[in-house]
Amino acid sequence: MNCELCGSNNNVKPFKVEPKEEYVNLCEECRNQIESGKLDENHFQCLNDSMWSEKSAVKVLTYRLLKELGRSDLLDMMYLEPDEEAWANTEVEVKKDAYGNVLQNGDSVMVIKDLNVKGGSTIKRGEVFKNIRLGDTPGHILAKNIYIKTEFIKKV
Ligand SMILES: [Zn+2]
Repeated sequence: MNCELCGSNNNVKPFKVEPKEEYVNLCEECRNQIESGKLDENHFQCLNDSMWSEKSAVKVLTYRLLKELGRSDLLDMMYLEPDEEAWANTEVEVKKDAYGNVLQNGDSVMVIKDLNVKGGSTIKRGEVFKNIRLGDTPGHILAKNIYIKTEFIKKV
């Protein structure tokens, strides 16, 4: 299986193109850059090709990355169907930890501050939660049924 953006076969895994349940196969390099929010323009020269993909999820992801890179020259050449365009422009809340790392379902996080939770118990600084869920509450993630503010956690 090859990365649907750059063609690499390094550790390719499906990557969800929010908010739909549709996926693009991405290599480790593409995933890392997208998840860290630090896009290397050289690496993403590959968008020149992926923008012509026939798969909607690839087009939508490519469109969003081109926008982030400020490549209006390429965006102008891209053609999206109306529903793809609506998908590409859906505001997806990106949840980030206290240090700006993008959080995803299934991540492990460490709490960086003692926190009081409902019912009078405390979550201790340094406590680690595995397999978090992003949940639907803005600014929070779900760790074992407890909502925790993203500003108090660090991805580990
Ligand atoms: Zn790639």
